[in-house]
Amino acid sequence: MDLYSLLKKRLKNFWDWFLDLAVLEWALPLILALMAIIFELIEHRNELDDPYFLGELAIFGIFGPVVIHIILVWMHGLMDAQKKANAEVLSLNRDLEKKVNERTVALEQRNAELDRANMELRALDEMKSDFVSLVSHELRAPLTALNGGLELALQSAESLPPRSRAILEIMTAESNRLTDFVQSILDVSRLEAGKLAINFGPVAVHPLLEQAAAIVLASGQRKIEWNVTQDLPPIWGDEIYLEQVIRNLITNADKYSPAEKPIHLCAELNQDAIRISVKDHGRGIASEVGERIFDRFSRLESEESSPQGWGLGLYLGKKLIEAQNGKIGFLSPIWKNDPTASGSEFFVLMPVAQAPEDDLE
Ligand code: ADP
Repeated sequence: MDLYSLLKKRLKNFWDWFLDLAVLEWALPLILALMAIIFELIEHRNELDDPYFLGELAIFGIFGPVVIHIILVWMHGLMDAQKKANAEVLSLNRDLEKKVNERTVALEQRNAELDRANMELRALDEMKSDFVSLVSHELRAPLTALNGGLELALQSAESLPPRSRAILEIMTAESNRLTDFVQSILDVSRLEAGKLAINFGPVAVHPLLEQAAAIVLASGQRKIEWNVTQDLPPIWGDEIYLEQVIRNLITNADKYSPAEKPIHLCAELNQDAIRISVKDHGRGIASEVGERIFDRFSRLESEESSPQGWGLGLYLGKKLIEAQNGKIGFLSPIWKNDPTASGSEFFVLMPVAQAPEDDLE
């Protein structure tokens, strides 16, 4: 190292040492006092007993340096306090980091446990779904045979005594109900397992509604009020599943509203979608029920005399409509001036089928 660098280094060390407040708080006042005394002595060298000399000496040589010393001591105190606070923050940060690390490790362990439990639950759920699907599947064949036999027996039921005929009719109705239930369970388990294939295509709205109504209201006793816009474009969806959902909505309107009141079947263009709705004159659905009505096994009826059901139709309906990129919902009350039969409206919003590009040109 050459002399210049050595000097520079020493000077810097000295300067750092001097700037240290513990040195500076004494050094600076002393230097100032010394300079003031020398300056005053030179200035008043012939009049040392002059009261101005003593006064200036007291002000610049004693009072001024003392004030500067006090200010520097105060600043030193402040800086020490700040250093202490910084050290405390640092130590708190270190503690915090340690705790966060500990918690992260604990959380990771917990996550791993949860993952394991989740996998076990999923495996159990799959086993349950497979079991339900198997049982439903196995039940379908004997039920079909049973239904066929009962239908056949009913065709020649005139020769039977009235009581036997009535029993046969009840058996047919119950067997049909059980078949519907088994079919719903099968659809639900297929849907939940992601095995329900949706076949998209254009679906004409009016014929779809007419067919669904003809099947559900086959007896012809229920009055239907039609309100379908003319020349509606087709829907883009799966005709079979769409009809299944509409049939369930009409079945519900029929089940949960007085027989003498009409059911309204409506369809209209709603921006880019077709809105199909089924309105009834039933007692309506309380607003707090909300989306819960679309839950699995959700039923609002509690009385013994209520219409029978499984609480699966709307659940399945919502899943089927959403799988076709549509929406399902309900409004209630809809007849506000009829408080005893304020009714409900179940609606489905389905996308319009786009015309093929050849047609657009
Ligand atoms: P289910 O009718 O077989 O019980 P759904 O899933 O189709 O099953 O309906 C669920 C519940 O929603 C019904 O039990 C009924 O309480 C209520 N609900 C459905 N549609 C109507 C309606 N149009 N009016 C009043 N309540 C209804």
